[in-house]
Amino acid sequence: MHTRNLIGGEWVGAESGAVFPVRNPATDETLAEVPDCGTTETARAIDAAAAAFEGWRALPAHERSAPLRRLSDLMLAEVEPLATLLSREQGKPLAEARGEIRYGASFVEWAAEEAKRVYGETIPASTPGKRIVVLRQPVGVVAAITPWNFPNAMITRKIAPALAVGCTAVVKPAEQTPLSALALGDLCARAGLPAGVVNIVTGRDPAPIGAALFADPRVRHVSFTGSTEVGRVLMRQAAANITRLSLELGGHAPFIVFEDADLDKAVAGLMASKFRNAGQTCICANRVLVQESIADEFVARLRGAIAGLQLGPWDSPDATVGPLIDDDAVAKVERHIADARAGGASVRTGGTVISPRAGLARRFVEPTILEGVKPGMLCTREETFGPVVPITRFATEAEAVRLANDTPFGLAAYFYTRDASRLIRVAEALEYGVVGANDGAPSTAQAPFGGVKHSGFGREGGKHACQDYTELKYVSIGL
Ligand code: NAP
Repeated sequence: MHTRNLIGGEWVGAESGAVFPVRNPATDETLAEVPDCGTTETARAIDAAAAAFEGWRALPAHERSAPLRRLSDLMLAEVEPLATLLSREQGKPLAEARGEIRYGASFVEWAAEEAKRVYGETIPASTPGKRIVVLRQPVGVVAAITPWNFPNAMITRKIAPALAVGCTAVVKPAEQTPLSALALGDLCARAGLPAGVVNIVTGRDPAPIGAALFADPRVRHVSFTGSTEVGRVLMRQAAANITRLSLELGGHAPFIVFEDADLDKAVAGLMASKFRNAGQTCICANRVLVQESIADEFVARLRGAIAGLQLGPWDSPDATVGPLIDDDAVAKVERHIADARAGGASVRTGGTVISPRAGLARRFVEPTILEGVKPGMLCTREETFGPVVPITRFATEAEAVRLANDTPFGLAAYFYTRDASRLIRVAEALEYGVVGANDGAPSTAQAPFGGVKHSGFGREGGKHACQDYTELKYVSIGL
């Protein structure tokens, strides 16, 4: 287990020697202590990334591609230790953690291939004596600020395309899950990425680290995944140096089930969307809209599926739903359930927070169905970030689309139908960056993932992610 920061190829502590603990959210066991860094260490990491930039960008594309490919291979070869560490510090079941490592590796593999295709253009000039050539060049030093819910994949989604096009990186992982980031740093070094190409700075207080990143004009792009609230703060800070930004922010996904849907597929899609990571994902279904005529049948089948879920910690082989990340997260879920009940919604299953066995923290939320949820309740406005399914009935397609779009968020939306015309109509009408049409798990390395409205801007995945880390320069050549 690596417990020091990676800066300029060296494993180092905070200048002050300060550390902070990383704990297992299921047990509160302290797993390790990591450096509590701030402005000084961030400046050093930027120095290292800036110093490595010229050499890294100058490499032929296939020489940047090769270590990225090795990194992906190493991640796949070491799924088990990486997943175990991730599961212990984040809380998700081991099977899910393995899935996250494979998913994280798929972005590195994709970027390794895409590194060879960072193409420019030639454009016909308007006079015979000129030629116009468009170059696509790396922006420079990129900073990645990442959340705790996907401690591995949220980092690889950012740094892999950035490195592929020739940028270098400073990573600031979430305070709750730095160990997975440091483990990834170790693999980066072992894969042959030169010193300084990837740097990792951990800290308990993110504000000075963020401020140092935006204050330094050498940091040309900050890619952030996290809450809309923090996204707003960063957007203001970015104004000082006109720092480029990608913001992958919060979501509030509608999940619409039309009366012509294949109900078994819709239930399976909802289970995949809602209960992954105990509902702590930005794209999980937050408002389930079910057409009146099939609502009773849908809820009955959903209850059957939920009965098969098992609460438990990372080392419980049958666990399918782990603990929430901390007590604040539990309090928020309890608040949402209480608010819905007070407003007239009923709990059809679950609804309580438990400790599944002695020695485990009271952070396990029973998978919950809330029926009779009305627009305006807390759970229809804020991300619940827990295993709660709020159900609202609707009468017509127009009403479903109106309810679905009635939010400032615009990350992911889902709907189930067997009507081909409706599929096209609704997909086009939903104001979201990602739409799962008869698909509860749309994320994949080759597609451009990202939001609209208060869910942010910028795309991760596919060729689009690589483009986010490049500048276009045109050269007008007089002959
Ligand atoms: P968060 O509180 O916004 O934190 C995200 C990251 O930003 C953490 O590393 C955090 O550091 C850091 N941070 C907080 N304040 C900062 C500041 N002033 N300057 C610089 N960095 C700062 O979000 P979270 O609770 O970790 O993650 C959950 C949120 O992420 C949810 O809203 C979820 O929807 C969203 N999310 C979005 C996507 C997407 O792709 N759109 C994917 C996953 C999650 P600390 O950990 O030290 O506080």
